[in-house]
Amino acid sequence: MTQNEIREDVEKYVLHTYNRFPIAIDRGEGLYVYDAEGKKYLDFMAGIAVYALGYHFPGYDEALKAQIDKVLHTSNLYYHEPLARAAKAVVESTDLSKVFFTNSGAEAIEGALKAARKYAWLKDKGGDHEIVAMKASFHGRSVGALSVTGNEHYQEPFRPLMGGVHFAEYNNIDSVLQAVNEKTCAIILETVQGEGGVYPADPAFLAGIRSLCDERDILLILDEVQCGMGRTGKMWAYEHYGIKPDIVTCAKALGCGVPVGAFVLNEKTAAASLEAGDHGTTYGGNPFALAAVSEVFKLYEEHDLIGHVNKIAPFLAGKLDELMASKPDKIRAHRGLGLIRGLELDGSISAGEIAARALEEGLLIISAGNNVLRFVPPLIITEKEVLEAIEILDRVI
Ligand SMILES: *Cc1c(COP(=O)(O)O)cnc(C)c1O
Repeated sequence: MTQNEIREDVEKYVLHTYNRFPIAIDRGEGLYVYDAEGKKYLDFMAGIAVYALGYHFPGYDEALKAQIDKVLHTSNLYYHEPLARAAKAVVESTDLSKVFFTNSGAEAIEGALKAARKYAWLKDKGGDHEIVAMKASFHGRSVGALSVTGNEHYQEPFRPLMGGVHFAEYNNIDSVLQAVNEKTCAIILETVQGEGGVYPADPAFLAGIRSLCDERDILLILDEVQCGMGRTGKMWAYEHYGIKPDIVTCAKALGCGVPVGAFVLNEKTAAASLEAGDHGTTYGGNPFALAAVSEVFKLYEEHDLIGHVNKIAPFLAGKLDELMASKPDKIRAHRGLGLIRGLELDGSISAGEIAARALEEGLLIISAGNNVLRFVPPLIITEKEVLEAIEILDRVI
C-alpha cells in the first residue's frame, strides 16, 4: 500500500482517538525507522520509551523466533520456562519479592491498586480505603488507572471514576501530608513524571513519602512504566534515591516492543494481598511476551546497557544545555534524569509544532504536556545520533 492509501484506510476504519503524525512507519533498523515511501528518520521517541534496544538488536529477534517455533501461548493455568526466567530476572533486578505479568502499563497499575486495597482490607475488613495520587501524573487510560491520573481533561467525561482518590502536589510533601488520612492505603506516584512534563522526584520528597508510608503502614506504589528499565541510568529509577517501593509497576521497555507489563511486590505486600482467585489475565505473561522479557534482561547485562546510559546521558544533557543557552527566548528549562529528558519551551511555540517540523526534517520526537519536548531515545544511542538530533532541533526551533 502507498503511504496515502494506508493513511486513508486508517482514518476511515480506526476510531479517531489519536492525532497521528502524517507518516506510515514501514520498518526499523537500529536507531532509525523508514516510512512507507522509504524516507529515513532518526528515532528519538522509541515507540514512547519502548524500544530501549532500538530495532533488531542482535539476539532479540532470534529469541522471539525460537519461542514462536515452540509455543506462543499457554494461559496462566500451566507453568512454562519463559515465566520462570522472566520472573527471576524481574524480581532480582527490583530487589523485591514477587511479580505478576500483565499486557500493558495500565493493567500493571490496576493490579497494584488491587493489591493495595486487598492489603488494607485484610487488616480491617473495611471497604473505604483511599489512595493518594499526584497532580499532573499519568498512569494509564483504564478506569482504575485513570482514577489516579491527575489530569482533569482526561478524567472529566468519564466520571464517576473509582472513588476515594485524593490528589497532592508532586514534590510537595506538605501537600501529601494534607491528602493522607487514616483511610489511606496507598500513595502512588511516578519516580520521574513522564507525560506530565518530565519532572524527576526530589530526593527529600521521596524520602519523606517513604517515611510517611512506613510510619502509617501505607503502601508506596512507584510507577516506573516509563522511567524504569535502565532509562535513568539505574535499572529502576528509585535506586537513585536509596529507597524501595512496596510495589513497582513497569511496562514500556520491559519487552522492548512486545506488549508486556508487570507489577512487583515486596515480601510484606506479597504475603498479605492478592491470593489465588483474586486476580488474573488470559494473555498476561504468555510465553512469547516473556521470551522477550528474559532476552531483554540478558542483553542489558551482556552489553552493559546501563553503563552505556551513564556515559551517553551526560553528553545528551550537555548538548541540551547548550541548545537552551543558544535560544534563551525559546527554551525555558531543561530537566531530566539519564535518558528521560525534557526541554520546556516558551509559551510562544508549542512542542507539538516543533515535533511536526522535526518529523519533516527526519527526526521522530514527541511532546509531554503542552510545551515540553520529550527525549526518550533508545538507550543504545551514541554521540553521533545525539549530534544529529541536536542539529535538526537547532534548525527547527
Ligand atoms: C505509558 C504509561 C502508563 C500506561 O501504560 P500503557 O501500556 O499505555 O497502558 C502508565 N504509567 C506511566 C508512567 C506511563 O508512562
